[in-house]
Amino acid sequence: MNQMSAEQEADSSQMLIEAARQARERAVATFSKFKVGAALETSDGTIVTGCNIENATYGLTMCAERVAMFKALSDGHRRFKAVAIVADTDSPTPPCGPCRQILWEFGRDLEVVLANLSRETGRFRLSQLLPCPFDASLLDKSPKPKA
Ligand SMILES: [Zn+2]
Repeated sequence: MNQMSAEQEADSSQMLIEAARQARERAVATFSKFKVGAALETSDGTIVTGCNIENATYGLTMCAERVAMFKALSDGHRRFKAVAIVADTDSPTPPCGPCRQILWEFGRDLEVVLANLSRETGRFRLSQLLPCPFDASLLDKSPKPKA
């Protein structure tokens, strides 16, 4: 049996949240001052972190979740279990629309754990946050041009 006990799973979530809190400290939130950290857990247990990165154009800002996913992909990871996202807010701070799309594209129905600096604030499956997603499976179903 390779199933984790509830206790092991809670420990794993805590490690992931803690990694996201540390990543948040490295955020480049020069303009908004809204620091976010993300930690992505791969299927082999590797944790890859990201933070939001702003710049003077504003529009080229990249969210913590996508930084983590792109780092993980560029390191060769292709299968993911969970992502923790941390912001300094009382209410849950879920991923934005573009991040939901990218997380779905590469991570499928991930567990999404939301937390602030002191506690967990929410827990979802990505399919709850992005119902009826667009993805590559739909491309295969489009009518083929007649030869
Ligand atoms: Zn985002």
